[in-house]
Amino acid sequence: MDQAQRLTTQIDSPFSQEISMTYPNTQLFINGHWQDAAEGKTLSVVNPATGKEIGRVAHASHADLDAALAAAQKGFDTWRNMTAQERGKIMRKAAVLLRERAPQIAALMTQEQGKPVGEAKIEVMAGADIIDWFAEEGSRTYGRLVPSRGNLAIRQMVLKDPVGPVAAFTPWNFPINQVVRKVGAALAAGCSMLVKGPEETPASPAALIQAFADAGLPEGVLGLVYGNPADISSYLIPHPIIRKITFTGSTPVGKQLAAMAGQHMKRVTMELGGHAPVIICEDADVAQAVKSIGGAKFRNAGQVCISPTRFLVHESVHGEFVKAMGQLADGLKVGDGMAEGTQMGPLANPRRITAMTEFMEDAVRRGAQVVAGGQRKGDTGNFWAPTVLANVPLDARIFNDEPFGPVAAIRQFNTIDEAITEANRLSFGLAGYAFTRSLKNADLLTRKVEVGMLWINMPAMPSAEMPFGGIKESGYGSEGGPEALDAYLNTRSVAILNA
Ligand code: NAD
Repeated sequence: MDQAQRLTTQIDSPFSQEISMTYPNTQLFINGHWQDAAEGKTLSVVNPATGKEIGRVAHASHADLDAALAAAQKGFDTWRNMTAQERGKIMRKAAVLLRERAPQIAALMTQEQGKPVGEAKIEVMAGADIIDWFAEEGSRTYGRLVPSRGNLAIRQMVLKDPVGPVAAFTPWNFPINQVVRKVGAALAAGCSMLVKGPEETPASPAALIQAFADAGLPEGVLGLVYGNPADISSYLIPHPIIRKITFTGSTPVGKQLAAMAGQHMKRVTMELGGHAPVIICEDADVAQAVKSIGGAKFRNAGQVCISPTRFLVHESVHGEFVKAMGQLADGLKVGDGMAEGTQMGPLANPRRITAMTEFMEDAVRRGAQVVAGGQRKGDTGNFWAPTVLANVPLDARIFNDEPFGPVAAIRQFNTIDEAITEANRLSFGLAGYAFTRSLKNADLLTRKVEVGMLWINMPAMPSAEMPFGGIKESGYGSEGGPEALDAYLNTRSVAILNA
């Protein structure tokens, strides 16, 4: 049964027992066809709620990559020669299919990644919106005419062309969103893309690619491979067919890949880690802050690059804030993401449990107080109790390394300047949050907090039309707004003397 048949034969209710028995094995998608790896190798896919294997994913060899690269070149030659309107039509059809299949795709995602199925469905639906927006924006990628300063008989043109076949590397925390932002922008710009998807969560991104295939995407325009990440990136990045690299993941890996791309003078977009400060000013509405930032903190069990992580709370509201965050964490229903009512699922893999254990031991040893959670839940699956830590010392690892888990680490401050200094202390610069009723504070924070995305008095609300990306060591380039398309375009200038 191929991916398309699987999706149409699955039943609608994401809470049904039957869904968990229909998780597919995932193949490679090369030149418009699903296929096993040439050498027949596969990797295990494990449900993080049960710890049990639910499927296998094909593991690409260099022979598979060679075939995928040749297909990407062929796909580029076809796709770049279609009009933006023709491309947009296929993309919009893919968005329609994605919406129709959202319940089934969400169920796949929850089984492989762990997040509550409602969250998974929102991710799929948002993916469709992203495709629609890029499909429209693609028809607005024009160049410009610039009058010559010397001779009006000279016609000067600025042209925008697709950069070429792109290699994309995407992680497991948002199996659809991380792919669709890259795919949407690249396809809209006229590029083909070869995606190295997340081996731990392969079936839902495969379903996304299937929606494009079913919408009529020409062969080779999109490819999807899985395997050994380091082996695949070191093969694809230097390869002459690949003209651009886009990566989402941790800062250390991003630095390695950017360095490799630099050696081969390839264009790069890097969407890397963060450690988002949350500044709660003395004039904040504390109840509203807890409601909006508390929900955001535990979304996807904190495995979000823009997750609020370093909570800096004015001393006058610190006690109230800590108490309310503790109550919120204690009240969350943790469980299998497929079970009705689950608000937080398991961590995506056992590595996160190890990381949480180490963060916790370190913080407590240095004097932090555990207000809620603080330990693993049960011994089946990767469940971690929603955790709130207070009075966390600045030298605790959790206040320095990206936590990527369901932990709110809180400290207090006296002056807003002190909070801003702490917010900017780390090399990360991805997301930031602040709560204040004062326009003066909001303006000061807007000017001084060094992040690519700042949300004031609200949780994060990324959308296709707003730039999404970091500064400092959180990366460069954007995955939203017109800037996202620019990343896939070459700019050329041509002058013609009309002799
Ligand atoms: P990791 O650093 O090994 O991997 C992160 C991602 O990069 C994975 O998708 C992995 O497949 C990929 N990767 C790793 N080495 C690669 C290479 N040489 N070439 C190409 N891709 C490579 O660690 P992990 O345990 O999977 O995740 C842990 C950390 O990664 C988290 O703590 C977090 O900081 C970061 N992360 C960030 C995001 C994000 O959205 N920015 C997503 C997932 C993970």
